[in-house]
Amino acid sequence: MERIPAIEGGKPVREKKLYYGHQYLDDADYKAVLDVLKSDYLTCGPKITELEDKLCKITGAKHAMVCSNGTAALHIAAIAAGLKEGDELITTPITFAASANCALYVGARPVFADIDPETYNIDPESVLSHITDKTKVIVGVDYTGQACDWDRLREIAKDRGIILIEDAAHSIGTLYKGRPVGTIADMTTFSFHPVKTVTGGEGGAVLTDDDKLYEKLLLYRAHGITRDPGLMENEPDGPWYYEQVELGYNYRMTDIQAGLLISQLDKLKVFKDRRRAIVKRYDDEFSGVDGLIVQKEIPESDTCRHLYILRLDSKKLKIDRRKFFDAMGAEGICCNVHYIPVYYFPYYKRLGYEKGLCPNAEALYEEIVSLPLYYGLSDEDQGDVIAAVKKLTEYYHI
Ligand SMILES: *Cc1c(COP(=O)(O)O)cnc(C)c1O
Repeated sequence: MERIPAIEGGKPVREKKLYYGHQYLDDADYKAVLDVLKSDYLTCGPKITELEDKLCKITGAKHAMVCSNGTAALHIAAIAAGLKEGDELITTPITFAASANCALYVGARPVFADIDPETYNIDPESVLSHITDKTKVIVGVDYTGQACDWDRLREIAKDRGIILIEDAAHSIGTLYKGRPVGTIADMTTFSFHPVKTVTGGEGGAVLTDDDKLYEKLLLYRAHGITRDPGLMENEPDGPWYYEQVELGYNYRMTDIQAGLLISQLDKLKVFKDRRRAIVKRYDDEFSGVDGLIVQKEIPESDTCRHLYILRLDSKKLKIDRRKFFDAMGAEGICCNVHYIPVYYFPYYKRLGYEKGLCPNAEALYEEIVSLPLYYGLSDEDQGDVIAAVKKLTEYYHI
């Protein structure tokens, strides 16, 4: 193979571009959507309950409430947790902005704890150091699909009346110490965006074992309106009667999305196995290569991996992440970066957040690229990714 990187004028590893993520849909998925389109209900129909029951069955959670997307799920989870103005929510900066934005939606303040430098998940000891008497919620993000140190986070939350929310946008299908994600925190949120492991086009869910939290989730998903006489302030006028008792939203999922998700969830095990095989091959190829760092896997997490993060050891390479990213693109491999620390964004800067808050997270951000990882990635295409990474690492090694 050509040794000169394409970015320096050499021949690229491949001509056809390869992307970092892609949904996988089959004939069963198409049929599931079509069946809903031909049915009586496009929304508020039987597919919603069927999907909720299925999520409970898969995870062992008592309740599941599906909604329009993962961000809406986090928003109403924050409301159900009672988070409000003056309160604080602790989360990681290495996440999608929604994990922190849910605090801002309700007037609370996101507080960023640093990450563990090897697993890249939130470091419980950093969480502990940021606890104040205003801390009401901790949002742990199972980054890349690997479970956080939930037992330690539970210990920290326990005697302080803090609610644990697991942002499991990456980790559906993961087990933590044998327990399925969905049963670990007080509330667990999923996202069903097309880049995630299973998709509904858009979609989200909140899972909980707590009856009171569940009641609130249902209320806020649909305008704060209830048809449950037990929640009403007045006697019903008649069978048509309902009441708005809080200010909620329209965060409903359609039956079209639910139909697709029910079908997608049938493949969760297959998706997980394939994703694990891809991750194992990357890990086998890259661990031990001077200049590359692989994410540490903890034995407590039986992980359904959403992202593959390659970290560059900048002391060993002549190029930085930007040049590496561009050089991968020139080889025909489109990478991505997950994530820009949330508090770097101008909106957060305007709220007074400054660089320097979380040194481990900031150092990680400088050195990472996300490599292609999805069910439909062929062995041959993955071989191209590996070839490109090795070609660049050898060529630019100091
Ligand atoms: C995707 C994602 C979300 C938001 O989910 P949407 O369905 O896109 O609103 C939240 N948190 C994390 C960690 C995510 O990756």
